[in-house]
Amino acid sequence: MSDTLVTTNRPTLAVWKFASCDGCQLSLLDGVDELLTLAKAVRIAHFTEMSRASVDGPYDISLVEGSITTAQDFERIKDVRANSRYLVTIGACAATGGIQALRNFAAPGEYAGIVYAHPEYLDSLDSSTPISSHVRVDYELHGCPIDRGQLLEVLLALLAGRRPVIASHSVCRECKARGTVCLLVSGETPCLGPVTRAGCGGLCPSIGRGCFGCFGPSESANCASLVTRLKGLGTPDATVAHLFGTFNTAASGFVEQAQSLRVAVASPEIRPRERTEPRP
Ligand code: SF4
Ligand code: SF4
Ligand code: SF4
Repeated sequence: MSDTLVTTNRPTLAVWKFASCDGCQLSLLDGVDELLTLAKAVRIAHFTEMSRASVDGPYDISLVEGSITTAQDFERIKDVRANSRYLVTIGACAATGGIQALRNFAAPGEYAGIVYAHPEYLDSLDSSTPISSHVRVDYELHGCPIDRGQLLEVLLALLAGRRPVIASHSVCRECKARGTVCLLVSGETPCLGPVTRAGCGGLCPSIGRGCFGCFGPSESANCASLVTRLKGLGTPDATVAHLFGTFNTAASGFVEQAQSLRVAVASPEIRPRERTEPRP
């Protein structure tokens, strides 16, 4: 990153939603103080979670939440890219396809039949793919949802024309920094922390809950080794498959483990809902 965005005119910021739950956008709204400070540094040109007002592009920074799941999404993300100087994806959906990428490994419509009473009304693709599969992405923020501090760091770095400082180590180091007793060592619960990207501050283990990998694979994650360890502790295949097959199920590193144990994920008790007569 070589040039600063700070000019006499405030740079413009746009926030876009694709297939997602809006949780990452809400993470931004949740930090009212930071948002107000940010609003002084940038001109928020498009952010439908915040305002109906919208200013036409081009935009200096676009934040993109969600994955590509419809034919219309293909065209829309190309427009966003063409109108954005920097494109930053926010969250697991945008970075790896999200939990909706479970459909990538099932028969077409299989999960839609489980979730919706009338899947025939859906008009979506049989796959959920990350934004980077379709357009160039300048920076990816991980997590489900993202960490607001990381988002602000990326925005400030872009405004200042410097490289963002974002941790690439695993959640385990955050446990150590926090003084959390390791759940794997104490044998309390399975935990994906050793292979999961840091960013949350070791949140789940701090309350006695194992990490389920919502920030996706860390750099150099040795997932196969962790699977061996989890199985050695007596964790059933189904549990290990569920751990790897959630919010980042299609992420390289996690997908191989989730797939190899997929037989347990597609458990026989999960059946499509009974269809009733179509709605009038
Ligand atoms: S990453 Fe999680 S919180 Fe963010 S939009 Fe997707 S499902 Fe929602
Ligand atoms: S509780 Fe989980 S994340 Fe924390 S140190 Fe142990 S294995 Fe790592
Ligand atoms: S501990 Fe794991 S699952 Fe929990 S918030 Fe952090 S990365 Fe996500």
